[in-house]
Amino acid sequence: MPAIRGTQSKRKARRYAAIRDIDQIHDDMKSRRHLEKHLETMAPEDLPAMGLHYCIPCAKHYSDETNFTRHTKGKPHKRRVKQLQEEPYSQKEAEAAVGLTTDNGRKKEDEDMTVELEDEVK
Ligand SMILES: [Zn+2]
Repeated sequence: MPAIRGTQSKRKARRYAAIRDIDQIHDDMKSRRHLEKHLETMAPEDLPAMGLHYCIPCAKHYSDETNFTRHTKGKPHKRRVKQLQEEPYSQKEAEAAVGLTTDNGRKKEDEDMTVELEDEVK
């Protein structure tokens, strides 16, 4: 286990094809910080195209622009986007997305101060 990744390192084992929970994806779409935290758990050299082509709603990586574009026009992707729009969003999840709660207790103060700003420039 590479110490440099700290307590998040075990998530690396899920790799790019791991299925991400729908509420986690909600948070990804709402908070860029949340998404970056997720992407940071994966090593770029393990990802297709170093992780450049990532579909947020589907939590999947694509090897190039062509594949990614084709995917975003496809049925599974559109179904996923629709599902995400319909999913009710609970207050608890909303708070988690902006860093009011935390799942690992690390760097909490840091994130509280930066998350809102980053969301605005998204
Ligand atoms: Zn997609």
